[in-house]
Amino acid sequence: MPRRGTPMRFVHQICVDRRPKGLRAVYLVEADSDEDTAELARLFEQFGPMLENIRLSRGKLVSFAVQLQSGDQSILEQIEGLLKKNFGFVILHRSFDQLIYGIVCELCKDSGSTLIRLPKCDICRRPEPFPDTVVSFMDDRNNRIATRAYCATCTAESVGRSSKEFVISLLEADRDDFGVLRHMTLVRSRSAKKHLAFRIKSDAEHQFAMG
Ligand SMILES: [Zn+2]
Repeated sequence: MPRRGTPMRFVHQICVDRRPKGLRAVYLVEADSDEDTAELARLFEQFGPMLENIRLSRGKLVSFAVQLQSGDQSILEQIEGLLKKNFGFVILHRSFDQLIYGIVCELCKDSGSTLIRLPKCDICRRPEPFPDTVVSFMDDRNNRIATRAYCATCTAESVGRSSKEFVISLLEADRDDFGVLRHMTLVRSRSAKKHLAFRIKSDAEHQFAMG
């Protein structure tokens, strides 16, 4: 049921964005001041085109999750070297997994640092800084109504099917269960050449709306 006061919006198109997968890592650094924190942010931005970064915590413990855009792993050591020159406590963990995220959470508690909320996979609900697939629901004016994000593990179960089946099976597995879409007519949009997109063919009886 829609919540009172939030008008229903009809979904016209579903856009699917597959993100390139790259090696992931987490850096944990002890920062003594706001200047330290700003310097850290600058350092990661400097590597911008080569890696994506998301901050996991702020305060005494500053931590970043990164994902490499290329196969060149030496960037990870370059960053580690730069950090070690300027900061006393530096840890590089060469993946983003539940283990390291648990350590970040614990160290945040112990040091009074603030954990920054991470987006979660909408299927398994695990924190996911770099989702593999992002599905957007668009209205008839191409405005985004909502987005759903899925991790690589959950996405892998749907890979290898037709593109339409891929999207429907993800949305069916979603915690909010959009399985109703299986009974609607989805037409591949020709306008979206680069991205995968489907127009929902709706009539009086078949409309997909979100509140
Ligand atoms: Zn997942």
